[in-house]
Amino acid sequence: MKKLSDDERYMREAIRQAKKAEKIGDVPIGCVIVYDGKIIARGYNRRNKDKTTLAHAELVAIKKASKILGDWRLEECTMYITLEPCQMCAGAIVQARIPKVICGCMNPKAGCAGSILDLFHVDKFNHKVDFEYGIMEDECREMMQSFFRKLRKK
Ligand SMILES: [Zn+2]
Repeated sequence: MKKLSDDERYMREAIRQAKKAEKIGDVPIGCVIVYDGKIIARGYNRRNKDKTTLAHAELVAIKKASKILGDWRLEECTMYITLEPCQMCAGAIVQARIPKVICGCMNPKAGCAGSILDLFHVDKFNHKVDFEYGIMEDECREMMQSFFRKLRKK
């Protein structure tokens, strides 16, 4: 069996988180935050379950990571997310000064890391985010597609 790269290992955990969201009836989006080679925070979308738009996977994970590090700045962290972040989460990532985000698949209808807007590379903001996508892309995309397929059948 092919050995997984670190990026794939972390993304696999983000996918595991996304599946927890699916179990509670939320759109399957998952996220982990890595610091010093370790996953320090995990999050999954709980928007419907918690009835708040503030429960996106990324925000849940940012909150936990800040608690663990005792700092709102997450300057030495890398975030792994299954789907390109929305404007709110991309904004929070910039605010938390996360230097690097690795993403599974893009979200052409709502993504703000390059699809609709690119909040990670706005010249006049002083913080820029290094953004990569395409890690375990097929799994991430298929997870979303099958969720919406099942939803349409209901
Ligand atoms: Zn979001």
